[in-house]
Amino acid sequence: MKCAVCSRKAKGFGWFNASIKLGDLNRYSDKLVFCSRRCQNAFSTLMNKTEGQMIDPSEMEMAAMGCCLSPLGEFVGAIGMDRPLASYSREEVMTLIDVVVTAYQEHMTSEHERMAARDLAFLEERLARKSKSSSMGAPF
Ligand SMILES: [Zn+2]
Repeated sequence: MKCAVCSRKAKGFGWFNASIKLGDLNRYSDKLVFCSRRCQNAFSTLMNKTEGQMIDPSEMEMAAMGCCLSPLGEFVGAIGMDRPLASYSREEVMTLIDVVVTAYQEHMTSEHERMAARDLAFLEERLARKSKSSSMGAPF
């Protein structure tokens, strides 16, 4: 089982859609599991603020892959750009994988947090505007 946000190993953190009736099998998804409270929070905040509308995951994944390019290039540059992959030691390959996976996971998690925060700010601004206009009274 992979974390739905960052793809690390999921560890018992889940989520269900409270807007779907009890007993409806769509209320729960075995795909909505998370590695940590951080990823669970990022996801559930986003889902609450977007009222269950899922964001396009492929676009976010593509952006996350793009975020791996710079750290990947830095690592390969540091150990020798001209070396063929077959000459890498096991440790160098493991480090290369770690560099890429860490950059990917960090982007996925922080992007979920950023979107959740943006949606929250939008709703708070609307609520503030609403209460401001109602306290000024209505023209007649
Ligand atoms: Zn995670």
